[in-house]
Amino acid sequence: MIRNKFLLLDNNYQFHLKEEQITLKGNVLKVLSTAICGTDLHILNEEIDIPHPIILGHEIIGIIEKLDNPDEIISYNKLSVGDVVILAPAFKCGECIKCKTGDYCINRNFYGLNIPYSGEFCGGFSQYINLQKNSKLYKLPQSMSIDKGLLVEVIAACIRANKIAFNKEYSVNKRVLVFGAGVIGITTAILAKLYGADVLICDMVEHRLQKASQLFNLNTLNTKGLSDVSITAGIKEYFKGLFPEIVIECAGTLKAIEQAFNVLSKRSRLVIMGNYADVGKINLSPSFICLNDIEIKGTSETYPEDMVDAMSIMKIYPEIQFDKMITHKFSLSDYEKAIEIAKTLKGIKVVFEFDK
Ligand SMILES: [Zn+2]
Ligand SMILES: [Zn+2]
Repeated sequence: MIRNKFLLLDNNYQFHLKEEQITLKGNVLKVLSTAICGTDLHILNEEIDIPHPIILGHEIIGIIEKLDNPDEIISYNKLSVGDVVILAPAFKCGECIKCKTGDYCINRNFYGLNIPYSGEFCGGFSQYINLQKNSKLYKLPQSMSIDKGLLVEVIAACIRANKIAFNKEYSVNKRVLVFGAGVIGITTAILAKLYGADVLICDMVEHRLQKASQLFNLNTLNTKGLSDVSITAGIKEYFKGLFPEIVIECAGTLKAIEQAFNVLSKRSRLVIMGNYADVGKINLSPSFICLNDIEIKGTSETYPEDMVDAMSIMKIYPEIQFDKMITHKFSLSDYEKAIEIAKTLKGIKVVFEFDK
């Protein structure tokens, strides 16, 4: 028997720190750290519908503690007990028509997002996780730190957004505007720069922009207190009188989408990746989209190839200090403080760390 500590979200969106004596059986991951994601905060704001009670947490890195049924796990690497692995949040059901035909599953399950708690631990806000059938694990490359490994899934999501944004038209100095200087926004901007773009990142939180600029040499615009007209002017000024060709929305607000429409122009492309939660509706002009050949595309998921690409990019560019975006680390017992820091945007990435 072993003691498991976990954070349970009840039907009233209240957390309870719990401890239970458990017997380890099947495939079990001992979590090293789990990041708090913007999605978790939207859940706490009741903006995303999820089953209850539930253990949240889907950005997870851990050690394989038990591997009784290795055939049930999907991995590019041969895995053994003791390996440090990144857990892909999504895993296929194995039953639907798409799964049967080898296509992309339409009934994917997500750790920490759509598996209610009923005795098994299926979220990263738990010291131990019962790995479900078809779980996908990526072995942490030897040269990579645990903090960097924890960010692989986030980086993969941003790679997906960039693939959509550039649509294989990589060209030097493409004008790219990113809204939101959280982890997703900063990472998306870093990657767009790697793709050769001229990138400007906007946010209203000065300390985030400072990090973006100091750590990653990104060009920034603080839009706090500025009118829509001044924001548009500031963006055009940065791009030497031109509008951006690509706008990537990573802020998760309607305001950012509205501002994006103010700077879209002929044949430009808008990628929406921040509005995972339904925070409302906006007015838009279909005629403007039609007359200007505007492309609008959303993205909310990472695909296995993006995970591999993320690890490759981190390997090719070890000097990029993605891990510096982790500004706060807490034990699970300090969850109130951790959630508070994450909610009030006092940090960039807030994570829970567990005892090894
Ligand atoms: Zn996430
Ligand atoms: Zn399926």
